[in-house]
Amino acid sequence: MTIELEKEDAESIKNNLSAVSLQITQAIQQFGRTPESVRLLAVSKTKPVSALAAAYAAGQRAFGENYVQEAVDKYHALGDLADIEWHFIGPIQSNKSRLIAESMDWVHTIDRDKIALRLNEQRPEDKAPLNVCVQVNISGEESKSGILLSELDAMVSLVSDLPNLRLRGLMAIPAPQQSHQQQCDVYKPLTDAFLELSKSDSMIDTLSIGMSGDLSAAIASGSTMVRIGTAIFGERDYAVKL
Ligand SMILES: *Cc1c(COP(=O)(O)O)cnc(C)c1O
Repeated sequence: MTIELEKEDAESIKNNLSAVSLQITQAIQQFGRTPESVRLLAVSKTKPVSALAAAYAAGQRAFGENYVQEAVDKYHALGDLADIEWHFIGPIQSNKSRLIAESMDWVHTIDRDKIALRLNEQRPEDKAPLNVCVQVNISGEESKSGILLSELDAMVSLVSDLPNLRLRGLMAIPAPQQSHQQQCDVYKPLTDAFLELSKSDSMIDTLSIGMSGDLSAAIASGSTMVRIGTAIFGERDYAVKL
């Protein structure tokens, strides 16, 4: 992870960030959303620290990571940067929960009681509560992660009672769909559940949906945080050893 970025690479990350921000702004206008109501989470998994530093220099503050050790290494490498925000968006094994509780600012992938309880228990006293989203499975059998919407009330009441977690909203990774309309149709039950939930609790303000392939449908469906990797940092090369 010590690789230095070429100047052109840093430049292209900056340009990509501008292009993605413009796409977000255009979708906000097109679908009548409030200005600035959608944040950009830069998904930096597999990318070197230097790529994150280039995005930071271009003004990006929120970074999403999927693999625990990689996330923690980057947190240690860049933790001194003011206002940098670490979001964990990958599956969580219970033996890794402590590392997450000790370093991340957000976790988007809460889908088991056990993980919620462990993160609450392991969150250090001197840190603010961990911001969490409950991951919902909205694509049925195609996805193994996430709870069903029918299980949401129980999960919300469990998480709401944990003092070291702060429930911020819902997250989903739908199966790919053919059209904008189909993408919106798949999001609809989630959007409805989110609106209902946010009415009952003013801390609930985050709907983490939207990736490179469905950015505009997600914003039309009420996304408040889109998670974009490839369009910012380029294709991922999983063969690179981190
Ligand atoms: C990798 C990943 C993304 C970003 O995907 P891209 O296709 O690179 O934009 C978003 N959300 C989650 C949960 C991911 O794992």
